[in-house]
Amino acid sequence: MIKYALTCSDCDRDFDAWFKSSSAYDEQKEAGDVTCAFCGSTAVGKQIMAPSVKRTDTSAAPDLAALARKAKAHIAETYDNVGDGFADEARAMYYGDKEERPIWGQTTAEERVALEEEGVPAAPLPDIFVPDTPADPKKVN
Ligand SMILES: [Zn+2]
Repeated sequence: MIKYALTCSDCDRDFDAWFKSSSAYDEQKEAGDVTCAFCGSTAVGKQIMAPSVKRTDTSAAPDLAALARKAKAHIAETYDNVGDGFADEARAMYYGDKEERPIWGQTTAEERVALEEEGVPAAPLPDIFVPDTPADPKKVN
């Protein structure tokens, strides 16, 4: 015996039916003896089954590594790396001694607290966004 999942194209319903063999199904189908369990129509056929493939497609989830690479590239391109002169540079821009521009660099813990207390806008850069090339900070004049 073999069980087929059948579908009726007249009433659009699915049902299971048993046959002696796959050839018995073919013979009965040919003879018009395979009918819909619901409406009696002969417009029935085996269901087309999609293979169940494990989904490995992760395109729906944000690719964090790619985002980080983009952010890094953006920062490396448009932000001046002022190295450990960051606090002075940020302060100079804040007080209007220098024109504002996007910068990034390092501060000591004390400098960071001082900047915060003075209200100088600066935010820690997440590690994954820090460009890979901090070796050559631009000269701070
Ligand atoms: Zn039907």
